[in-house]
Amino acid sequence: MSFDVQIIGGGLAGSEAAWQLAESGLRVRLSEMRGGGGNTPAHETDRLAEMVCSNSFRSDDAEHNAVGLLHQEMRSLDSLVMRAADKHRVPAGSALAVDREAFAAEVTRAVDQNPNVTVVRERIDALPDHPAIIATGPLTGSKLAEAIAAETGEGALAFFDAIAPIVHRDSIDMDVAWMAARWDKGGKDYINCPLDKPQYEDFVAALVDGEKMRFHDWEKDTPYFEGCMPIEVMAERGPETLRYGPMKGVGLDDPRTGRWPYAVVQLRQDNALGTLWNMVGFQTKLKHGEQVRIFRTIPGLENAEFARLGGIHRNSFINSPKLLDDELRLKSKPNIRFAGQITGCEGYVESAAVGLLAARFAAAELRGEKLPLPPVETALGALLGHITGGANAETFQPMNVNFGLMPPLPGHSKKADRKKAYTDRAREALSRWLEPVKEPA
Ligand SMILES: Cc1cc2nc3c(=O)[nH]c(=O)nc-3n(C[C@H](O)[C@H](O)[C@H](O)COP(=O)(O)OP(=O)(O)OC[C@H]3O[C@@H](n4cnc5c(N)ncnc54)[C@H](O)[C@@H]3O)c2cc1C
Repeated sequence: MSFDVQIIGGGLAGSEAAWQLAESGLRVRLSEMRGGGGNTPAHETDRLAEMVCSNSFRSDDAEHNAVGLLHQEMRSLDSLVMRAADKHRVPAGSALAVDREAFAAEVTRAVDQNPNVTVVRERIDALPDHPAIIATGPLTGSKLAEAIAAETGEGALAFFDAIAPIVHRDSIDMDVAWMAARWDKGGKDYINCPLDKPQYEDFVAALVDGEKMRFHDWEKDTPYFEGCMPIEVMAERGPETLRYGPMKGVGLDDPRTGRWPYAVVQLRQDNALGTLWNMVGFQTKLKHGEQVRIFRTIPGLENAEFARLGGIHRNSFINSPKLLDDELRLKSKPNIRFAGQITGCEGYVESAAVGLLAARFAAAELRGEKLPLPPVETALGALLGHITGGANAETFQPMNVNFGLMPPLPGHSKKADRKKAYTDRAREALSRWLEPVKEPA
């Protein structure tokens, strides 16, 4: 073998991973199908790290925003993606937006010119037996996807996400909502938000009238299997459909009235920390602004802060909490690591961050060392911890980095102070972790 690690996929994650491994002195074969006869329905060029939609890396505020913090942490680890983004940034207020052409050209040049990387324009259809990182993204080639599905078992690779909104627990009004399970079966595991008849009718009308996102042409055949039907599609089927579906109030005694509510919205715990709760059955194609407006009319959610809003997209991702170990290795075939959006993280920055971590773990392993996990108080550690075990495997759906993935802070403080407290704590934790790991070689 003329290389130490093969990386499959030269997107945001694969390019970052190739750079990190190469800088640590390892030889990399980067296999990218674009430019070699393959393509995805979303990419338009054969450049590495092409941004397929927006040109934004979102907030660059490292003091009050989790993705801004992630930028800063990646910069501390010599991230190529962040270096290229900083070099080609365009004015966008506090956000980090980039000239996408110049950004992708910069990444492509840096990777191409690195003597430790060989970029091969080839499509890979099978799982390799040598050390490899699979970073083929949300639009993974179909043969490789089949190979992943065959290795990981039925249902462990999703082809579409069906994302229900996720709410920060501490933003739910528990004077209105209450904890209970239907018919008191099992523990009081759900948060229940009650609606009376007029509230329910207004809510259904708002769902029907709300502005929806459009599917891309190549997504139009999105399968609405029962169980992941968008909430607004159910609402359109008739005024009672939701009340006999995810919003049924039967078996739930509201402690304020002693009766079952006319309708209910239930939230289920979504991470081991108990900081994030997903709205059960509320996958939706409503526009993000509409989701916030309409879902805040639900009693108990008037001040809800959303860690993630709903969506449905074509998106290949594996059930990482079940399949991967804490260093992103496939448990059943540990020569393979996964990185990028296929691990169930969401977004350009998160994908590159997981690529960076996968490469650092692989480099340490090949040197016979063990890289300590980044602390869960950091953005890197929180994201990694979520996808490799913190998330509930049964309801696992793609996730952006956010403060709800970090252990809660003790005590209560104002929102702005709280965010700063999270990032202060993260910086301290990162610098302790960085001391021994900063040098890739
Ligand atoms: C339509 C669409 C719009 C999006 N919009 C945004 C957005 O606005 N903002 C945002 O942050 N995120 C967005 N995303 C998510 C975005 O795709 C990811 O954030 C990011 O690109 C994921 O990085 P990645 O490296 O995991 O995958 P990608 O960047 O997609 O890279 C994967 C690479 O693997 C290659 N590949 C696939 N299969 C094979 C194979 N079998 N052999 C060899 N190579 C292969 C592909 O050609 C591609 O270059 C969007 C996704 C889609 C599909």
